[in-house]
Amino acid sequence: MKINYLRVSVTDCCNLNCIYCRPLSLANHVPRSKLLRFEEIRDFVALAVQWGIDKVRITGGEPLVRNNIVNLVEMLSQIKGIRDLTMTTNGVRLEEFAQELKQAGLSRINVSLDSLDRERFTHITGYDKLLEVLRGIKAARKVGLDPVKINVVILKGVNEEEILKFVSFGLEQGLIIRFIEYMPIGGIGQNNRYLPNNFAKEIIERKWGGLEPLSSYNGSPAKYFKIRGTHSRLGFINSISRPFCSSCSRLRLTAKGELRPCLFTNFGVNLKKALGKKDKETKREEIKALFDLAVRNKVKRELSSLSNPQKKHQKAPSKFNSEIKERSAAFIEGNMFQIGG
Ligand code: SAM
Repeated sequence: MKINYLRVSVTDCCNLNCIYCRPLSLANHVPRSKLLRFEEIRDFVALAVQWGIDKVRITGGEPLVRNNIVNLVEMLSQIKGIRDLTMTTNGVRLEEFAQELKQAGLSRINVSLDSLDRERFTHITGYDKLLEVLRGIKAARKVGLDPVKINVVILKGVNEEEILKFVSFGLEQGLIIRFIEYMPIGGIGQNNRYLPNNFAKEIIERKWGGLEPLSSYNGSPAKYFKIRGTHSRLGFINSISRPFCSSCSRLRLTAKGELRPCLFTNFGVNLKKALGKKDKETKREEIKALFDLAVRNKVKRELSSLSNPQKKHQKAPSKFNSEIKERSAAFIEGNMFQIGG
């Protein structure tokens, strides 16, 4: 599999505290002095582009809480060879930044939003910020960050009754709604909150009729479908019921400069020292060796045997539980904000 997608986490801080993610409970945030500087991120990305990366996503924590984040977007947008420069945000500060991000060269944006109900949103995130997020989404569309994709994590017993509401929201506002399977790690970390995406798909098909499969684009982990008779697209990211290891084209750069091949392993290489090298050639050589090492350590195993997509509302089998423990260890050890859309 060609590795062409780099996720860059610019901070592990967040201005929300979602029950399934809980960034505020991480006592040890990376101190500011340990964060990769924008110049270091730019230098790494400029090299990585020579080795096949052509898609870059800025993420976090919450990327819009990192000071001067627009400057980083501008720096990255000037690197030739990036055909897709995107960001994943919770949207709380998006209204404020949408125009500048667009001007700086961001191609499009993903917004994470798990409820359209103000009270439930507050329950999930710990903050009464739904209206800010909705204004942010509107602003993103207005400035032409197109398409705006909305990432919805479905949690059993929390927000599954909003599945159809989200589909209508997408249709009305011209947004691509993507349902993401909850990974029982970090945060509430409860297997009994997990719902396979088949559940959402069935509910949607009962109301809207069979969804029309679309071919995946951009190596996205999402399976896309069209609602018949509309131009609206829906995405399903089945990280648990249909793991996509074999088609994974991603590397992850953490806020403090570790390059990680995937979520399923503790393995990571630290780029900080190499990025500090004065001699250009030595720097390039050292970073290339670390890049190759990370790529070689991408997990190749197929996890599809760990879940049974036939069963609805399935309880995780014990084999699955141990996998989750492994993932959770990788997360705690690494950077738990590196997941999802
Ligand atoms: N703060 C930004 C945001 O909210 O989009 C970027 C970081 S956030 C951790 C990235 C994505 O990971 C969000 O869409 C979030 O919903 C998703 N995520 C976090 N924990 C998750 C979990 N346990 N299972 C599934 N998705 C999760």
